[in-house]
Amino acid sequence: MEKNKSIFSVDKLLCIGCGNCIAESKNNFKMDDNSYSVVKKQPDNDSEIELCNVALNNCPVKAITKS
Ligand code: SF4
Repeated sequence: MEKNKSIFSVDKLLCIGCGNCIAESKNNFKMDDNSYSVVKKQPDNDSEIELCNVALNNCPVKAITKS
């Protein structure tokens, strides 16, 4: 399992701009100019990966995915 290779993404068509993911992982998500979340930086350590997984699981509209 190459967990460091996880690629997170945000579906802008689903995102409602609640900001939860940014609160969970401000290193990895940010608001774009239209107040929707975008991936700022892919997680590159276990701590960031864990926080991104928390963000993914807590997104109210399931807009965050990983591949
Ligand atoms: S938690 Fe989900 S809905 Fe909220 S800003 Fe992040 S991606 Fe958008």
